[in-house]
Amino acid sequence: MPQARDHQGQCHCGAVRFTAHTDLGSMGDCNCSRCRRLGWVMQSVPASAFTLHRGEDNLTLYHFNTKGIDHLFCKTCGIEAFARGSDGKGNEMVMINVACLNDAPPVDRNAITHWDGANF
Ligand SMILES: [Zn+2]
Repeated sequence: MPQARDHQGQCHCGAVRFTAHTDLGSMGDCNCSRCRRLGWVMQSVPASAFTLHRGEDNLTLYHFNTKGIDHLFCKTCGIEAFARGSDGKGNEMVMINVACLNDAPPVDRNAITHWDGANF
């Protein structure tokens, strides 16, 4: 397992830029109605391990279903670089879009967690 370290990430146009401190050790995808359309691979980190450097005012919000997750999109390029939510125990979490990391690793879809979001 790689050591946790800082990863820089951004949306496509660069209006939204962030740093996430993570070992990328629990990446996953999800089969809910939204995630399967988006096709993203996520890595969640505690909110304390995430720093948004720019772009907060360039984000637009999408909610669906239980509205428990803030899906945030760059208003300029439409990319969702991260989402905000909670771990169900009251801890604020950020779900990073792994493909938005500047050093995005190759992801073996067979080796990551598959959340059954369609049945949550
Ligand atoms: Zn953008």
